[in-house]
Amino acid sequence: MALEDLRNEMETCRRCSACKFMPFEKVSGYQPVNVCPSISRYNFHTYSGGGRMVNGVALLEDRIGFSEKFIEVMYNCQVCGACDVSCKYAMDMEVIEPIYETRIKAVKEGHTSPDLDKVVNSLRKQGTMVPGARIKRGDWAAGLGLKDCTAEKVDVIYHAGCLTSFNKDMWKQAKSIVKLLQKADVDFGIAGEKETCCGGRAYQMGYQEDFLNQARKNMAMITKSGAKTLVTGCADGYHAFKVLYDKFDLKGDLEVLHVTEYLDNLIKAGKLTPKKRLDITVTYHDPCHLGRLGEPFIHWQGREVPGHIRIFEPRKEFRRGTYGVYEPPRAVLKSIPGLKLVEMGRIKEYAWCCGAGGGVSESNPDFSMWTALERVAEAEATEAQAITTACPWCVKNFNGAIKERGSNLKVFDVVELLARAV
Ligand code: SF4
Ligand code: SF4
Repeated sequence: MALEDLRNEMETCRRCSACKFMPFEKVSGYQPVNVCPSISRYNFHTYSGGGRMVNGVALLEDRIGFSEKFIEVMYNCQVCGACDVSCKYAMDMEVIEPIYETRIKAVKEGHTSPDLDKVVNSLRKQGTMVPGARIKRGDWAAGLGLKDCTAEKVDVIYHAGCLTSFNKDMWKQAKSIVKLLQKADVDFGIAGEKETCCGGRAYQMGYQEDFLNQARKNMAMITKSGAKTLVTGCADGYHAFKVLYDKFDLKGDLEVLHVTEYLDNLIKAGKLTPKKRLDITVTYHDPCHLGRLGEPFIHWQGREVPGHIRIFEPRKEFRRGTYGVYEPPRAVLKSIPGLKLVEMGRIKEYAWCCGAGGGVSESNPDFSMWTALERVAEAEATEAQAITTACPWCVKNFNGAIKERGSNLKVFDVVELLARAV
């Protein structure tokens, strides 16, 4: 796939601006309706999903080039996919794919952001998207006596991911997962020092070759281990292993589950029982890459019949964000005695992004923070005591925003609460 192959998608854009909002039929009462952080912050059409379609066509026609302004607009987008879902509520067209491909084309032609180059250099040298880390990838598991999946047979590989491994504040997520898997007698292992980045964030930033290198390394290790299931607690990791590896025909028959799916199954099978009461009211934030972008990839090959109405031979199914991982984290929360879940207005496929995706937290921390602050305000309006989520990148961004806002909200990964209750 290249930007040129998506010309029809981009030319299908009707400039209707539906990609900026929740579909109005989905709005109930007084609540925020914006879904795109980029247009909401910068308030100029070019920053929206639709604007990015116009930019893509203009690039193909040499009416515009990779100017400094173009790069600035291009990277001030979390590739959160909300525009893709809102557009597809009424349209059969791809929005997120041209956004990816514009970035890939920019990187291939040498038009990059120095801030993102720094992150990708860290990936190339140290196999992590967390530059400057002074600890080793497997340090979080020191003393836990976990199996090494590169040396011993295991049923399940637990992939901790870059942020969880290299940011000590996130170790509690990994340790909670270990506690829960051990409690349920799951035969699992980790790759420890030999684990490497899933590559997903490199793809989001447009560094497709770096993503593919990581994907091949990971799949070689997993295939050699013989494990059939991979579990991760990171939404970016889930999206990479489940969706992107499949998109590039690298996943094979590996079963990829987010840890909330795996734990929900264990609870339903009676292998884990949350018994301790947690008298707390929480709201749940759907991570973009677990929710709408976590929907399985749909392979399609065929042709578009020329004409005014889009007709595909054979019939083409579009990913509309409906089949993301929405219920398992909620089911895990609801299984905890005493816990009350209250919902925000923008949830599931219409969830507002935490702000950390697509390289924005690295290239424009101010915009990343602004996006997280909006979500924290939305969470506060539910009168919950805590915002829960299922990705370390969201946890990190919300912690920063809560500090900045002086909010009393607490932030928990779903697994932390479950580990307390079991
Ligand atoms: S991307 Fe879709 S929703 Fe946005 S302006 Fe174009 S057609 Fe409308
Ligand atoms: S991917 Fe997200 S931030 Fe980027 S244009 Fe679409 S809705 Fe806006």
